Amino acid sequence: MNLLFMGPPGAGKGTQAKIIASEHKIPQISTGDILRSAIKNGTKMGLEAKSYMDGGKLVPDEVVIGIIQDRLQEDDAKGGYILDGFPRTLEQANALKRLLSGMGQKLDAAVNLAVPDEELVSRLLDRARKEGRADDTEPVIKQRLKTYNDQTKPLIDYYQAEGVLREVNGLGTMEEITSRIRAALGNP
Ligand code: AMP
Repeated sequence: MNLLFMGPPGAGKGTQAKIIASEHKIPQISTGDILRSAIKNGTKMGLEAKSYMDGGKLVPDEVVIGIIQDRLQEDDAKGGYILDGFPRTLEQANALKRLLSGMGQKLDAAVNLAVPDEELVSRLLDRARKEGRADDTEPVIKQRLKTYNDQTKPLIDYYQAEGVLREVNGLGTMEEITSRIRAALGNP
């Protein structure tokens, strides 16, 4: 099963993507995680990405498209995957479409986790206290939400038009949201 999880920062898509990926025994592929690990390892890509991430802005399309292009060729992605946090722009969505068609694959579903903005700010501030992520300060959180609304939200319409969109209410307990996602994907 080839899936992607979308949603604003703080919607819980990383947590849910990990749960669903482990249930289906497929990898969860997070561009955010890959970029954070590049920063930790001090690679050239990490160095380039850091200033964008610290400012709540998107890393340039060609960088993340390159990451996904390489990652999808790896053996563990042959039987399916969950893309978590990619694509985030129309340019990335179009690149993904070309990439998948070149590999003879298609997307089975795009899960959108919907959560109101007010709830997101308080969740992200809470996560900042617990995990201490560099991009979880209040001004950066506001910028990340703006980036999401301006650049990523239009993808909801894009995947609706592609006929693969599954809207899921992202309010509730972790278990409730997981069950809704399972139901939206057609398995109990
Ligand atoms: P995340 O862990 O998904 O919230 O991503 C953290 C940060 O990494 C984002 O705020 C962006 O700066 C960067 N990032 C992750 N995925 C992408 C993407 N698909 N396109 C551009 N930037 C990304």
